[in-house]
Amino acid sequence: MSDTDQNITGFDLWYLSLPVVSARDHGIGRVDGACEVVVLRLTSEGGETGWGEASPWVVFTGSPEATYAALDRYIRPLVLGRKVGDREKIMLDADRAVAHCTEAKAALDTALLDLAGHISKQPIHQLLGGKCRDAIPLSVSLANPDFSQDRALLDRLREDDVRIVKLKTGFRDHAFDVMRLETLAQDYPEFAVRVDYNQGLDPEEALARVRDVATFRPDFIEQPVRAPLYDLMAQIREAIDVPLLADESVFGPEDMSRALREGICDGVSIKLMKSGGFARAQSVATMAARHGLGAYGGDMFEAGIAHLAGTHLIAATQAIDLGCEFYQARYYLAEDILETPFPCDGGHVQVPDVPGLGIQPDLDKLNHYCISQGRAA
Ligand SMILES: [Mg+2]
Repeated sequence: MSDTDQNITGFDLWYLSLPVVSARDHGIGRVDGACEVVVLRLTSEGGETGWGEASPWVVFTGSPEATYAALDRYIRPLVLGRKVGDREKIMLDADRAVAHCTEAKAALDTALLDLAGHISKQPIHQLLGGKCRDAIPLSVSLANPDFSQDRALLDRLREDDVRIVKLKTGFRDHAFDVMRLETLAQDYPEFAVRVDYNQGLDPEEALARVRDVATFRPDFIEQPVRAPLYDLMAQIREAIDVPLLADESVFGPEDMSRALREGICDGVSIKLMKSGGFARAQSVATMAARHGLGAYGGDMFEAGIAHLAGTHLIAATQAIDLGCEFYQARYYLAEDILETPFPCDGGHVQVPDVPGLGIQPDLDKLNHYCISQGRAA
C-alpha cells in the first residue's frame, strides 16, 4: 500500500539518557550529566516508519517519566489500528485522553507527519503547506557556569560562522551577567547577542537589572520573571527600549491570546514541546505576526529528531522569522542519535528536502542510550 489509508500497526518507545558535554545553568535550573528524552517510532502496515521525539525539561514543561507514561499508557491505545492519514483526529483524541504532556503530543504529531511523509514521499514542510525558506539562522546559547568554557565555545562558533548567541542570565549575580556582556561586546563584536533570564529574576530586582542589561542593546531580552507574572512582564516591557520576548509565559494559542491582550511582549519563543503539535505552534506564530510581533524557533534539551521537527515547522511558517536554537545536537550532546549529522552549515540550519523529517535515528545509538523501552504487543 502506498497511501495514508494504511493502518498504524507499530508503536515503539525508547526512553533515552543522553550524556552532555558540560553543565548549564539557567534562571530556573541546572542541567548536568545527561538529558532525558523519549523517542517514538510508528510503523504502518506497509512497513514504513515515522519518528518523533519528546524532549521535556522538568522545571519547564514536565518530566520525562510523565511524558513516557502519556505515550505508553494513554496515547498508544488510541493510535494503534488508526489510519496514518487520520492525524488531526488522532491529535484531538490525544488532547482529550491526557491533559498537558505537550512534549508527548509533539512527538506523536512529528511521528505521524514523518510516517505520512515517507508514504507520500514528501518532506514534512511540504505536508505543512510548503517551504518558505531553505536555511534558518542558528543561535547558540551560552549557559556554562564556567565562562572560560563558553569562551572556548565562542571561538568554535566563530570558526563555524555562527553569528547569533543567546546569553543565559539571572542564575548568578548581576555583575556576572554584566561581565559576560562586556566580554561579548569587546571580544566578540561580530555576534548578535540575545539575553534570556529563563524566569530567573525576583520581582523586586527585575526592573533594575533588565534596564541595565538593555543598555547593551541586545536583540531582545527574554522572560525575566516567572511565567504567570504577566503584569510585571508588561511593566518591564514599557520600561525598556529593546524588545521583550515571552517564552515560559506562552505555551500555546490560549497564552498568546492573553499575552497580546495584556501587552506583555514584543515577540515570542515558539517550541513544539510547549505547543504540543504543529498546528498549535503555527497558530501561535500567526497570531504573533498578525500583531506585529517577532517569533523564533526555540527548543528544549533536544536531540536531532526534535531539531528536525522544529526545522520543518520553521521552514513552513513564514512568521517564525528570528532564526532557531537547534544547537544541542552539534554543540551540547556528547553524541546525537541521528544516522547522519543534523544539517548545519555556515551558521544556518539547512532545511532537508527529502521525504519525512529527512534523517532517521540510528537504532544502535537508541539502544545504547536507552534506559527503558516500550513496544507494541
Ligand atoms: Mg527561553
